[in-house]
Amino acid sequence: MSEPMSFSRLAEILNNVGQPATQAEIQAYLSPESIQRFHINSLAESRLRDLLLEAMSQEEKWKQSLANLLRPWQAEIDAIVAAAQLAIMNHVAHAKEPRCACFREQRESLWEVQDRYRSDREALRATELGWDAMQKFSETYERPKDDATAEALAALPDLVADSVESLLQNSLPFVGRRRG
Ligand SMILES: [Zn+2]
Repeated sequence: MSEPMSFSRLAEILNNVGQPATQAEIQAYLSPESIQRFHINSLAESRLRDLLLEAMSQEEKWKQSLANLLRPWQAEIDAIVAAAQLAIMNHVAHAKEPRCACFREQRESLWEVQDRYRSDREALRATELGWDAMQKFSETYERPKDDATAEALAALPDLVADSVESLLQNSLPFVGRRRG
């Protein structure tokens, strides 16, 4: 598949011309033996490493789009589950109900996906896993401790009002004293 290793091929790769280099081909040029044999300097080596990263992400993207072709429902289910998790995290009074109203919309979307792919057993299994993931997240999500700070901040206007009142009562005996 890949071309034999040579100076001219290395030049092609470094200049991004000719047949696109594969991950394996670039890796071969990055081996210590090749670096010696082809007198690859540090500049060329770092260029090869960049090209390797690029090739890796291209191959990853290709694999991902193939997976999407084979299982078109999966990306949709993943997005629904992620949206449900976000809704749960945003529900301040979330009480770990397995079917809390905060992610009803996502449950309905998941039913809709399930209905659309009802003849495909693999899709049905994937929607069941998505359902379990949403339910488990709903039942176990713990709000981070930072929320205590958020609640304290939300209560701040009252605290300020209280302290203003106590200031009026304590420091200014004749002004703002509570009637009765
Ligand atoms: Zn909720």
